Amino acid sequence: MASLFTEPAIARAASLPALRTAIGDCQRCKLAQHRTNLVFGVGNPKARLMFVGEGPGADEDAQGEPFVGRAGQLLTEIITKGMRLRREDVYIANVIKCRPPGNRNPEPDEVESCEPFLMRQLELIAPEVVVALGKFAAQTLLRTKTPITQLRGRWFDYRGLKLMPTFHPAYLLRNPAEKRVVWQDIQQVMVVLGLPVARP
Ligand code: URA
Repeated sequence: MASLFTEPAIARAASLPALRTAIGDCQRCKLAQHRTNLVFGVGNPKARLMFVGEGPGADEDAQGEPFVGRAGQLLTEIITKGMRLRREDVYIANVIKCRPPGNRNPEPDEVESCEPFLMRQLELIAPEVVVALGKFAAQTLLRTKTPITQLRGRWFDYRGLKLMPTFHPAYLLRNPAEKRVVWQDIQQVMVVLGLPVARP
């Protein structure tokens, strides 16, 4: 369900490669001038589980793949050691596809330009569960200013998909004690997906 303002080529893209082609050498917002690579997303196009982060950092911008830096390594551990899945079983993307300079927060006009790409990714993949990683992804997708501390651990409906907000892995690197509650959130996701819940 694209919005009225989504470009027809984006709304009509019938596969992830077609969507990537429709995005092209994107110059739709001012982040284009700063990026090395547009970071589209990675993983199984038929994934039952999709993780959505904020936007690429320096490592992701350099490599063109989401969540490959330190926070990404922690996300990979959550997927592989915690959930006992492979990274390639899930799909990983961000709200913003190009790195904001100096890792500043994305600005509203940048979100407005970029979010239709994520919406189409979600429509095409149609995962059973979306995990929103951190305040920015959760608040942007849910159109709310409610703090992440109140959003995390609860189920929300996002355009007919089940959405679970949790803390961002970069936050966990700074606050390792919070890994415990993220594990609780991830276990809720595993139950919904019918995955066996074992200790990581
Ligand atoms: N943080 C994010 O939100 N996304 C990435 O891809 C990397 C770090």
